[in-house]
Amino acid sequence: MLTTKYDTLSYSYKGIKVFPRLDLLRIYKTIGHSTNTIIRNTENCIFCGDELKTNNKTHSHLIPELFGKNSSRNNFECDGCNELSGKWESSVGTFLTPIRIISRMKNKRGRIPKFKSRLDGFDYPTEIYVDESGIFKGKLATLDDFRPQEDGSRKLVFRLGRANPFHIYKVFLKIALSLMPEEVLQKESWMKQHLFKEEIDKQLFPYMFKVFTDKIIFPKPIFELKRLAVHHKYHPQYLMIAYFGKTMIEIVLPIKKPKKKIVINMPPILEIQGARQHYEVEKIDLCDTENTKWDMTFTLQINNMSKDIKF
Ligand SMILES: [Zn+2]
Repeated sequence: MLTTKYDTLSYSYKGIKVFPRLDLLRIYKTIGHSTNTIIRNTENCIFCGDELKTNNKTHSHLIPELFGKNSSRNNFECDGCNELSGKWESSVGTFLTPIRIISRMKNKRGRIPKFKSRLDGFDYPTEIYVDESGIFKGKLATLDDFRPQEDGSRKLVFRLGRANPFHIYKVFLKIALSLMPEEVLQKESWMKQHLFKEEIDKQLFPYMFKVFTDKIIFPKPIFELKRLAVHHKYHPQYLMIAYFGKTMIEIVLPIKKPKKKIVINMPPILEIQGARQHYEVEKIDLCDTENTKWDMTFTLQINNMSKDIKF
């Protein structure tokens, strides 16, 4: 059964009315895929244009290992850009911690990260982790972190540290650019400038849609770039879909802002592959360019709680 709250997802963005749609993914065609290694025949960094030195032609990770252990590499990125994205990735790390714990995604050292947050006014922090036998455990600083819902489920709130939402978008945008076939990349080279801007500009559409599933389905991350296959002014041209852990995220690439007010139909939400019992769809606003504290919530089914979760 698909449980969603699409009605609440429609919103206005810089004068554009946006309505998510469920049934439009078929008009998008996959044009890039995170196969193990992407090799380009280039002497220059595809992001900043700097000449690639022989000694920095080491292959960097195409998909950061924060999304899960993988062997994806590329040969078209300079050290400077690699270092820059490393900085953006610290925000991604903060953002992904709850997803990694819930999905039981291991890091390089084979461990699932622990989550800890210290709240003002409480003597001890909230701690959430998975023990050696895979049992989900934690202790809460306050019961406000574990909110009962009307349907009997509970919402677990992760109070994250500070992260820069725009940096998170940049990490996804950079991967999307990496996946572009050469001729598309040349045509859309204007998108690269957003990687180096500190401010959000009007061509950007920094929203993501997240679907959280009930099983671990993607032990290795898969990123797919899709392009609109038909001419349609109401839909964004490019989408990237990231599958990792128990999560699927759909990212909208920068849009050339229309001259007049129009309606944009977002084409969510992902191809649903295989039978799952529960989905949550969440819109994540990545407009903020400052380090911001935010909360992330996950719904837990109450009938599993006594068995799997101890607080
Ligand atoms: Zn570069």
